[in-house]
Amino acid sequence: MRWEAQEPKAAGSEDALLALQGVVRSVRTPEFAGITFHEVIAKSALNKVGKTSGMPFGWTINPYRGCSHACVYCFARKTHTYLDLDAGMDFDSQLVVKTNVAEVLRRELARPSWNHEHVAMGTNTDPYQRAEGRYQLMPDIIRALAASGTPFSILTKGTLLARDIPLLKSAGQDTEIGMGISLALLDPDLAHRVEPGTPTPKARLELVSRLRDAGLPCSVMAMPILPWLTDGDESLDALFGALAGAGATGVTAGALHLRPGAREWYLSFINREYPQLAGKYAQLYSGGSYASKEYRQWLAGRVNFFKKKHGFTSKAEFMPLRKAGAESGQAAAKAGGDASTPAASGASAAGKLSADTLF
Ligand code: SF4
Repeated sequence: MRWEAQEPKAAGSEDALLALQGVVRSVRTPEFAGITFHEVIAKSALNKVGKTSGMPFGWTINPYRGCSHACVYCFARKTHTYLDLDAGMDFDSQLVVKTNVAEVLRRELARPSWNHEHVAMGTNTDPYQRAEGRYQLMPDIIRALAASGTPFSILTKGTLLARDIPLLKSAGQDTEIGMGISLALLDPDLAHRVEPGTPTPKARLELVSRLRDAGLPCSVMAMPILPWLTDGDESLDALFGALAGAGATGVTAGALHLRPGAREWYLSFINREYPQLAGKYAQLYSGGSYASKEYRQWLAGRVNFFKKKHGFTSKAEFMPLRKAGAESGQAAAKAGGDASTPAASGASAAGKLSADTLF
């Protein structure tokens, strides 16, 4: 695959998708310029997570495949190649929509064998990407999970989540929920370059505050920290200070992880936008998907220093599940984070995150 020369290739890509089972139609609308939605009839909604994955949840739901948030570092890019689409522009613009996902989910949750394990959303692609404004799949998914008493978590960069805060508050009375916002940098210009389809960092900080004001827990996934772009003391200090100010109940940070798919796309971005860093990146990631051990140890030290400075516990865990209202307002974080509960976040990753990549 030649990454440098990739262009959208709608016609061929759609042909590939239409060859897949379950595609009902492909749609383009002026409101979503450059994006094609491939509506499919899904046979299943719940995906089992392998016990060896190391993930703290047993199941996931992905109402969408591909993600218009278009983060250049996205771990999930490679999963698009399973659809005979590419992990670059196709991942950003050829989106698969499981239009019947809630209906299928309700059937699956009604099975006597359903064991009410933690269901995670946002672990592969973002459930509150822009498409959700058009398809509105999440409200019925949340209702189905809450009605069945199934604990669930949502990780997102999408401020569209605010639409569902009343519903989440209600769901949080029936079952335990975990909320996570993904935010690892504050510079709006840099965010526009590396996460071009996402709401601004300021908008995501405001979303953290709105969730906390609503009495919902809200962790932040400050990942990935980008070598030479967001790993400086000034950036980390400002980031963790802003997260504490917004009321985040915990933070998990992690160094950039470049698994296949993400690796090629991200490094082509560095070559194009920051050619002076290309050699440094090649050296830092010469051992594979992970930055060198020395770099990760150094970064863990800086992250933990600034987390402590702003009142966050240094422990890194995934989103803790709680009933809504277990904490009130922003009190905990205004005091500098919730030291009584672990820091938390989900992973925007189909990939496995080892303990030494999260801190
Ligand atoms: S990192 Fe998350 S928000 Fe960004 S493109 Fe991937 S799934 Fe979407």
